[in-house]
Amino acid sequence: MKTILRSNFLNPVNHDVCDFLPDYCLTIDEQGKIVSIEPFALTSINENDRLIELNNCVITPGLIDLHSHLPQYSAIGIGKGTLLSWLSNYIIPLESKFSNEKFAHEQSVAFFTEALLYGTTTIVTYCSIHRNSTSIAFETAAALGIRAFIGNSLIDLPNGPGYFIPLETIKSDIEYLLKKYHLTNSDKLSYIVSPRYAGSCTKELMNYCANFAKMNDLFIQTHLAENKSELELMKKLHPEFDNYTGIYAKTGLLTDKTFLAHCIYLDQSELAMIQKAGSIVCHCPTSNRYLSSGIMPLVNYQKIGLRIGLGTDVAAGYSLSLLNEAKEAIETSKSYGISNDRNGNDISATYAFYLSTKGAAENLKMSDKVGSIQIGLDADLAIFEMDCSHESPIAEDILRTLIYKKFNQTAKAVMIEGECVSGTL
Ligand SMILES: [Zn+2]
Repeated sequence: MKTILRSNFLNPVNHDVCDFLPDYCLTIDEQGKIVSIEPFALTSINENDRLIELNNCVITPGLIDLHSHLPQYSAIGIGKGTLLSWLSNYIIPLESKFSNEKFAHEQSVAFFTEALLYGTTTIVTYCSIHRNSTSIAFETAAALGIRAFIGNSLIDLPNGPGYFIPLETIKSDIEYLLKKYHLTNSDKLSYIVSPRYAGSCTKELMNYCANFAKMNDLFIQTHLAENKSELELMKKLHPEFDNYTGIYAKTGLLTDKTFLAHCIYLDQSELAMIQKAGSIVCHCPTSNRYLSSGIMPLVNYQKIGLRIGLGTDVAAGYSLSLLNEAKEAIETSKSYGISNDRNGNDISATYAFYLSTKGAAENLKMSDKVGSIQIGLDADLAIFEMDCSHESPIAEDILRTLIYKKFNQTAKAVMIEGECVSGTL
């Protein structure tokens, strides 16, 4: 039986273009793939088909969150200060509790359930340093049906209160997790190599991560240039390198499958290294303000052609809503323009939406599978209640309404591979 959704659709095309398709029908086959998208008036509906009328809704591709921290979920809104003190006062003690499997399970369920509620169908996340809590995260994601790239946080420098793992144990942990969960039972789960940041990793660990990722063709995630005190820490811990980005470049971590969260304080030579490697800058504007880290110059990076994505960065980011992150990306681009005397430099809702959907899928090398509404792709969809009949028929206006009205609201329903995994249809 095919499922036909009759509704209004927003379909990202590129940085500058999004299509608005009012009163269209999207047909999903038994395998969860999109087999047609056409105006209602042109759609032939068989009596065996399941027609679902969603006239007061707008349907988007499932949202894709490129950076978050599962074990920090319960710390949303907790703690103050800047990055390094916030980590040691609040976050490391919380993440340490993930050695308790019951706690790890409860938190994993809460984290993925909320991500789905907000319309996120694919999420890239850190877990704690523990092998078992990371296994639990994979198993919970599988049970809930979300697509997830999950990595245990790799920390071998004892610069926190006991929160590290010796390199030899890390090696066996990541071998185990890769073999057990990476693309094993379905293609929805992937292992991502996750050195926390150069402040908590030895050079040996970073080299090992780079080789391991290369050998197994894996994505890598880490943090870069989030906070000024962090830059000072790098000079102290890794004095043999010219700059922060150079640490990752020289240890082999800068690849075209590497996500670099934050990237606020980078000089021209560092930007050139990132561009040459084709690594992805992961913009986390909510988090950047919460910890008073700074404002990433998004428009400058866009202009020089860096690959860019969006991440909620829970818990310094205080919401798992990617529409909230899109709103913050727009608002923050205005703040940057205001403080640098460059008004009119704000990004469009179309671009913010593209970063949250098709652009993110391209960064994950899965745009042939998800991220837009096209025949042959999987039906990963977020359905938001919104009356479009009184709105302007221009996609940018409808997107702006969606982002600014729905950023703190959950989706009516969320589908992954044509299955409703959250809410009701
Ligand atoms: Zn982060």
